[in-house]
Amino acid sequence: MTGGVSIQIPSQMLPADGRFGSGPSRVPQRALERLAEEGLSYMGTSHRRPTVRRVVGRVREGMTALFGLPDGYEVLLGNGGATAFWDSAAFGLIERVSQHLSFGVFSSKFAQAVVGAPHLDSPEVIEAEAGAHPLPRPSDRIDLYALTHNETSTGVTMPVSRVEGAGLTVVDATSAAGGMTIRPDQYDIYYFSPQKAFGGDGGLYVALCSPKAVERVERIAASGRWIPPFLSLAKALSDSRKDQTYNTPALATIHLLAGNVEWMLEQGGLAWSSQHCAQNARILYGWAEAHPLASPFVTDPAMRSQVSGTIDFEPEVSANLIASVLRDNGVVDTESYPALRRNQLRIGLWPSIPRSDIEALLACIDYVIEALSV
Ligand SMILES: *Cc1c(COP(=O)(O)O)cnc(C)c1O
Repeated sequence: MTGGVSIQIPSQMLPADGRFGSGPSRVPQRALERLAEEGLSYMGTSHRRPTVRRVVGRVREGMTALFGLPDGYEVLLGNGGATAFWDSAAFGLIERVSQHLSFGVFSSKFAQAVVGAPHLDSPEVIEAEAGAHPLPRPSDRIDLYALTHNETSTGVTMPVSRVEGAGLTVVDATSAAGGMTIRPDQYDIYYFSPQKAFGGDGGLYVALCSPKAVERVERIAASGRWIPPFLSLAKALSDSRKDQTYNTPALATIHLLAGNVEWMLEQGGLAWSSQHCAQNARILYGWAEAHPLASPFVTDPAMRSQVSGTIDFEPEVSANLIASVLRDNGVVDTESYPALRRNQLRIGLWPSIPRSDIEALLACIDYVIEALSV
């Protein structure tokens, strides 16, 4: 029952899997089964010993292959997710001034993490209204440009290309990585968490680092600046080189990620996963454009996300009500990002979501709208 509304969607209409969240995203059954199968010899064993370190090694090798990393690029792992990476960057990556493209909840959080750091100047923050993205403004003052490949809160995607000059191009790819193609020569750091396009669990970050980024990390660490050890990228780098993390990681997170990155490679790598997500996105946005009561929130088609789609609804239908009816029927996490305060649904389009589930979800939404209007 949802505020007095009880609508039962016919079971044959429901998607095979009801999880459509934009993060955490659905974890595939095959990954959970493999964890259960291998769990007795893996979970609860030392992260400093070969059993676990081999799995960390598979994550690092898998990422190197998936993203086509050239020689000299390194795969760094740390605890705490993308959010911890922001604090680590404030201590160990920004030399003096960073420039942040802020166009949603996540991109603005990185900027906020830097404001007030006593060893840094105030960051430059370039904003765009929700539903669009700004562009970087190259400047000699700036030593780090903070870009976001996909702003998950609004469903806006931006092209990633290296900003000219000496500054590092550092890209929050938390929701883009694994669902969009990217060229390694276009970034210095491409960082993400496993619970979005990789269909894993949270608590970990992965940062793909160019030689220029590695040099910056090592130089700042050697400069004598005070850096909390847990947030030290230099420590994360030296531990990652040994297939370890500074402190105990969530072993299940690492196991799920290793299996999922290998699965993605077997399917055809980033070219495959990006095409898969683009097709899911075409179905979603095509449906919304044709619908009298729905429309894509992002008006510029080039900025529309292919991993997390945002759909606005006309005032006569409540997106929150649709989401809660879906939830009552086991179809979960289609709610929009609360801070946006829009009459909107947000739908994950991830590599682990088959086209048939997107089609079934849209049929269910049509069914609910129909049922609500009688
Ligand atoms: C989810 C998300 C984050 C935060 O990731 P955590 O793992 O929760 O720290 C940061 N940036 C973007 C773009 C995200 O989608």
